[in-house]
Amino acid sequence: MTGKELQEKLGWKFPVIAEKYPEHIGEADRFCEGYKEFLNTGKTERECVKRAVELLEAAGYRPFEKGASYAAGDKIYAVNRGKAVIASTIGTEPLARGLRMNGAHIDSPRLDLKPNPLYEKDGMSLLKTHYYGGIRKYQWAAIPLAMHGVVYLEDGTRREISLGEKAGEPVFCVTDLLPHLAGEQNSRKLGEGLKGEELNIVVGSIPYEDSKDVKEAVKLKALAVLNEYFGMTEKDFLRAEIEMVPAFQAADVGLDRSMIGAYGQDDRVCAYTALAAEMEAKDPAYTTLTILADKEEIGSCGNTGLDSDYVLHFVQTLAEMSGADYKEVLQNSICLSSDVNAAYDPTFPAVYESRNSCYVGKGCVLTKYTGARGKSSSNDASAELMAKIIKIMDDAGVCWQTGELGAVDAGGGGTIAKFVAGMNVDVVDLGVPILSMHAPFELASKLDVYHTYLAFRAFYNAR
Ligand code: MN
Ligand code: MN
Repeated sequence: MTGKELQEKLGWKFPVIAEKYPEHIGEADRFCEGYKEFLNTGKTERECVKRAVELLEAAGYRPFEKGASYAAGDKIYAVNRGKAVIASTIGTEPLARGLRMNGAHIDSPRLDLKPNPLYEKDGMSLLKTHYYGGIRKYQWAAIPLAMHGVVYLEDGTRREISLGEKAGEPVFCVTDLLPHLAGEQNSRKLGEGLKGEELNIVVGSIPYEDSKDVKEAVKLKALAVLNEYFGMTEKDFLRAEIEMVPAFQAADVGLDRSMIGAYGQDDRVCAYTALAAEMEAKDPAYTTLTILADKEEIGSCGNTGLDSDYVLHFVQTLAEMSGADYKEVLQNSICLSSDVNAAYDPTFPAVYESRNSCYVGKGCVLTKYTGARGKSSSNDASAELMAKIIKIMDDAGVCWQTGELGAVDAGGGGTIAKFVAGMNVDVVDLGVPILSMHAPFELASKLDVYHTYLAFRAFYNAR
């Protein structure tokens, strides 16, 4: 055997998808048209649930009914408080043999309005915000923002808010200093380039028409317009959840159009691919459970996040209905914690360890553990589970790679994995490599998105 032959036999290198499957470039392109549409229609967790339910209904899913009897192939879904959704296809195997779970999150970093947001200062009206999730604050200034959310009026009427998305609608923004006057600001540390209380949204600059005896006529003008649009008053901000998100649409990026740039790809890229795989599941051996969760970006807390028991309760109910012991169901279940990982960035190599990073164009990334420092707060998937998942992907010809979230001690982070593991389920992280993660405009490779979908499909189809 020559050295080259031995090298090929013993060594391992992750292939480049475009080289291994050149025909997938076109397939990925087509697949990502639906993905871009999902990103544009779902800019908040609520909107993602709404869109997911539309897609699920169209694919034959029906609302889960306690006490109903379900047969193999039946498709059901359950919405949690309008912010999270579980979809499931009943398998041919008994439930006690376990579920094939796939959990992604549909909340993304953003600027939330404070409960009492509107004020007037020096002839302008502005909104105070409290950022949600891990953002680099300076990235959110001087870009167009759209207003999304829900508000309840005094009489109980629910109004959905979406302003700044359609052509012709106004957008909003956070201001920043001009370079000429930024001498002092430039000497701040980057993390404080813009401070939390400087993330104020400009909403107006002209006073209400009849400003006689009115103390804050510019603020009044803003209130008048909000009332005209949504019927709301200043008090109704206290009964609202309003999120300011980038106003731009998902776009192809690059001369070769090989990438997608968009807001909220963490983690709607896994939500969309998981949903697509779920909807295609036909008579799977194991019952599938696709979870689109909320609140991952702030630690999975709250009753719509995965630190809550709502998924556990769903599994318990499902088990009761089929006469299975839910503890046995969970113990035999496998879950993909589907979330993005940090793609190696050639401009910033220092924070990565090149041998253990994921790369744009090499497929979905299987992340054995996340966490910070000594794997703190991580779910560290077992070798047994890694072997199972790798086999499923290899058998289906899926391009996958491994990656750590950056070099040791360079930082770190977590996903929903540890909360799923807390239910005594075998779980490992799998998702799409992302550049500029958590920025208003995140970047992903279309081929990676496509192969993540192929991985999820193989996972549900595996016998
Ligand atoms: Mn994420
Ligand atoms: Mn994130």
